[in-house]
Amino acid sequence: MKQLPFCKGGVDIRKNFLDAADPSLLFLFFVVGLITGSFLNVCIYRIPKKKSLVSPRSFCPNCNTPIRWYDNVPVLSYVVLRGCCRTCKAKIPIRYPLVELLTGYVFVHLCYVFIQYRHESACIFICYLALCSALIISTFVDLELLVIPNEVTFIGIPVALVLSVICPGLHDAQNTLRNFSLTGICRLDTLIASMIGMLAGGGLIFLCSILGKWVLKKDAMGFGDVKLMGMIGGITGWKLAVSIFFVAPFFGLLMAIPVLLFKKSQLIPYGPFLSLATLVCILMQDYFIGLVNVYVQLFVVLFSGFHS
Ligand SMILES: [Zn+2]
Repeated sequence: MKQLPFCKGGVDIRKNFLDAADPSLLFLFFVVGLITGSFLNVCIYRIPKKKSLVSPRSFCPNCNTPIRWYDNVPVLSYVVLRGCCRTCKAKIPIRYPLVELLTGYVFVHLCYVFIQYRHESACIFICYLALCSALIISTFVDLELLVIPNEVTFIGIPVALVLSVICPGLHDAQNTLRNFSLTGICRLDTLIASMIGMLAGGGLIFLCSILGKWVLKKDAMGFGDVKLMGMIGGITGWKLAVSIFFVAPFFGLLMAIPVLLFKKSQLIPYGPFLSLATLVCILMQDYFIGLVNVYVQLFVVLFSGFHS
């Protein structure tokens, strides 16, 4: 476990939380986030249609005119064109600038927490950027089509395993392996930690879907959510996967009540809530891992109590 350097340049960053912020780096990652968001928009539009992500170039789905580079600047082009195609004046969905701004915000927040405040390695930071990008694609496809694309989870699950080996700090930093080692080989341990995270995350949602089907006599939760939560658990480890599992329904309830009241549809996508819960649990991981540790200790005390 890496000791967090709380003192930087004589400033105790625990007391002066915002003193750790370096605006120029945050701005850089805001721009990187906007550009990435622009690419995520392409993914959100093309992945469900099984189209290539690289060719052809971006075009207007209404008049098929290729979009020129100056009409493809994230957010700015949408504002300049007032949300309409330059050629045919068809409306551009508000989703485009929203996804770009959201990605920009997420990148800035991750950069602030993991690079500037916690001083984690760039490797861990990049893993979280990749995870959040995958979650943004899943969220917006799920909101529109009520499916989580297999293209995201089938690529995401093996990538999560590989990242856990390349970047052992991902699981080590989360205290998963601090007290015991199964094999004595750090990278093999983190691979196992990643698999346990996958089983915990995917398994909990799978149990829920079986229980839901048994109680409600219909499909309560799609298998897409199982795969999505498996991918998330593979990156976050089991302690955060369990936290995400318990945090997501709170966001779900907030959303479900208005949807069930005003919309006829009984189907509510669950992917967006899992994604939102993941972001919250990643950013507040010390708190949530601490909470799980308390429950684990409680369980150990109870369990050993029965045997003594
Ligand atoms: Zn057009």
